[in-house]
Amino acid sequence: MLFESGAFQNSDNRTFGKGFLPSATDTSGLDLQATDLHSVRMAIDKRQRSFELDGQTHTYSLERRRRRGVTIQLEPRLGLRVMAPSRMPLREIDKVLANESIWLRRKLTAWSQWEREHPPLKFVDGDLLPLLGELWTLMVREDELCKRPSVRRDKRLGGPGSIMLRLPAGLPAQRKRELAASSLDSWYRRLARQLIEARILHWQGVVGRKPKAVTIRDTRTRWGSCSSTGTLSFCWRILLARPEVLDYVVVHELCHLVQPNHSREFWNLLASIIPDYQEERTWLRDHGQELYI
Ligand SMILES: [Zn+2]
Repeated sequence: MLFESGAFQNSDNRTFGKGFLPSATDTSGLDLQATDLHSVRMAIDKRQRSFELDGQTHTYSLERRRRRGVTIQLEPRLGLRVMAPSRMPLREIDKVLANESIWLRRKLTAWSQWEREHPPLKFVDGDLLPLLGELWTLMVREDELCKRPSVRRDKRLGGPGSIMLRLPAGLPAQRKRELAASSLDSWYRRLARQLIEARILHWQGVVGRKPKAVTIRDTRTRWGSCSSTGTLSFCWRILLARPEVLDYVVVHELCHLVQPNHSREFWNLLASIIPDYQEERTWLRDHGQELYI
């Protein structure tokens, strides 16, 4: 939903301060060329650096790329990242950071508050896992009979339930954490595919178009995209948002199969299906950066 063919380059758009992380900021044009920043990372030079702000030291990873502008990103769990042109002198980068101190102060404050409220998972009973706008409780069971880890959702009526993670008994602590993390990660992705495909099935009749294929990714900068060949791509983390938000993203991309742009016709079509889509769009713009585990 966020992308323009080539022109979109979200990261350039948000150079210096236009929100970091997937945002629902739609810019005009096509939703093409889904690129996963992680898979196309062309870092020639990546290192940890730091800067001072209000007497505090903040570290960031510097990534050199073939690009023109400098982009600053702040991602939960991953921290602060600065992408700069290959040959830009370090003092120029420092100058950019100094110039952006107001933006950085605001974002760093919001980010550290988010991190305080969302401590990293410990993979123990009682950990809270976001899913469809609710917080579910993790239960971990170590079982002599369990050969391979498994994850199961136990939904009580009328509210969030628990997510049961079964692990083989007797694993070393580090191995247990790794296995828990990877099991939950793949469980979320499988569930994302299931639910997103179910919602596509629900809405495609209303929109009157079917996607050629559906891909689920872990994109940092967009929630969905529609390729010129009719493939819809979604970021699995949209599953952490309320179902209405997920529906908005699904319908948004389906509408691109009719209108491959963000023209007035596109928004009219979307509004004819979800009249109050603006509410979800705004929510995603303001809170999309919180959709992390
Ligand atoms: Zn779009």
